[in-house]
Amino acid sequence: MPLHKGPQHDERPVSVNPFLGPANPVGDMTEAPPKHRLPDTPMAPSTAYQLVHDELMLDGNARLNLATFVTTWMEPEAGRLMAECRDKNMIDKDEYPRTAELERRCVAMLADLWHAPDPAAAVGCSTTGSSEACMLAGMALKRRWSGRGPARGARPNLVMGVNVQVCWDKFCTFWEVKPRQVPMEGERFHLDPEAAVALCDENTIGVVGVLGSTFDGSYEPVADLCAALDGLQERTGLDIPVHVDGASGAMVAPFLDEDLVWDFRLPRVASINTSGHKYGLVYPGVGWALWRDARALPEELVFRVNYLGGDMPTFALNFSRPGAQVVAQYYTFLRLGREGYRAVQQAARDVARGLAERIGALGDFRLLTRGDELPVFAFTTAGDVTAYDVFDVSRRMREHGWLVPAYTFPANREDLSVLRVVCRNGFSEDLADVFAEDLSRLLPELRRQPRPLTHDRNAATGFHH
Ligand SMILES: *Cc1c(COP(=O)(O)O)cnc(C)c1O
Repeated sequence: MPLHKGPQHDERPVSVNPFLGPANPVGDMTEAPPKHRLPDTPMAPSTAYQLVHDELMLDGNARLNLATFVTTWMEPEAGRLMAECRDKNMIDKDEYPRTAELERRCVAMLADLWHAPDPAAAVGCSTTGSSEACMLAGMALKRRWSGRGPARGARPNLVMGVNVQVCWDKFCTFWEVKPRQVPMEGERFHLDPEAAVALCDENTIGVVGVLGSTFDGSYEPVADLCAALDGLQERTGLDIPVHVDGASGAMVAPFLDEDLVWDFRLPRVASINTSGHKYGLVYPGVGWALWRDARALPEELVFRVNYLGGDMPTFALNFSRPGAQVVAQYYTFLRLGREGYRAVQQAARDVARGLAERIGALGDFRLLTRGDELPVFAFTTAGDVTAYDVFDVSRRMREHGWLVPAYTFPANREDLSVLRVVCRNGFSEDLADVFAEDLSRLLPELRRQPRPLTHDRNAATGFHH
C-alpha cells in the first residue's frame, strides 16, 4: 500500500454527468465536488454512488489477475452472509457472542486439520491476514527468546530463506529483530535446512519455514528443517522453534498432500499461520494464527476483553475489525468440508499443472516449477531466446487483460527473471485455455523483436508477493 500524500497538482473537481442528478441535474452539476478536500455540501446518494462506481470501472478484472493469491470469487450465499454481518465488530465478543463462537470453531477446525497433538490445548485467533498472523507469531517467538534470559545487549535474530514474503521483513523492522536470510543457490529457490542451521545461534528466536514460496510456489522442506534443528540441539543444546508460514500451503497441503509432514505433527513446529483469504477461499480480510499449545504463546502478550460477564483472552494488533470475513470462513468450512476443499484445490492444481505443461511445450520457456505443490508455477525464457524477455511477455499479455507478474529473483539468483501464474478457484480450465492461446499467439511477434523492449521493468509488472 503506498503511503499516500496529500493534494498534488491535480486539483480539478470531480466531473459530474448531467444525467446523474436525480431530480434537478443542474443542481448537482454546479456543485462539482472537489477531489482533494471534503465537499462543502452533501449530494444525493444515487449521484455519489454513480460517481464512485464509474471511477472504479477502471480497476482491473480481478478474475484475470494471475498475480494474486487472494480469493476473487465466492458464492452469492457467502456474499449475502457477509452483507448481513457488515455491522459486526469482531472485538465486541460480548455484543456478538455467536460470531465469537464461530471464530472459536474455526480455530478448533484448523487445530484438528493441522494435527495439533491436543486440539483442545491449541490456541489461535483470526487476524486481518497472514501478515498480522506472522507479526503475532514472531512476537511470541521473540518474547520466548527474551524469557530465556539472553545476554545483556544481545540482539535477537530470525532465520529464514531470502524468498520469504515481505511481511517477515516488516516483522524484523518493526520489532527490531535481525533478519538472517539463506540465499538462493543454483536451482534451489528456497530455504536449505543445513544452510539455515548454520545461521542459528543462541539469539535465534526461531526459523521460518514457508509452505508455499511466493516466488515459485514450491514447498520448503519443513520436516528436514526440523530434523536439522534437532541435530543442532543434540550438538549444542540450542532448542530453536519453527514457525510455518502456510499463508497458501496450509490450506492446500492438508487436502492434497496428506502424507507430507509439515505441521504440528513435528514437535518443533510451535506455530502456523494461514491466509483465510487465499486458499482458505474467503474474500480479503481474514487470516489465522495458531500455536501448538499455551506454552508456545507467552501469557504476557494476551489481552482480555469483556465476554458475557467474564473475560476472553485475545491476541491481535487491531482492536476493531469486521466480523464478516470470519463468518464467511466458517460458512466455507461448513459448506465444503474436507472433501469439498480437496475437490476445489485439486481443480486448481490440475489447471496449474495442465497450463504449466502447455507453456513448457511451447519451446520458448523453461519451467522452474510445475504447479504440483502450490497451484502456482514460475517460468522463464529458454536459454536461446534473446529477442524478448519475461518483462515483454508480462507487458504484452496485459493487452489481453491478463495480469502476469514478471520479476527478478533475489540473492544469489539476481540473474534470473521469471513470470509467475497463480491458479485460484475460479480460474477454470476454459480460462486457462484462453490464456495459453493468447500467449502462443503473441510468440511470433515477440520472436521478431530485435531485442527485449521493456525499459521500465518496475512499471511493466504487477506486485509479486
Ligand atoms: C500472502 C503471503 C503472506 C502475507 O499474507 P496476507 O494475508 O496478504 O497478509 C505471507 N506469507 C506468505 C508465504 C504469503 O504467501
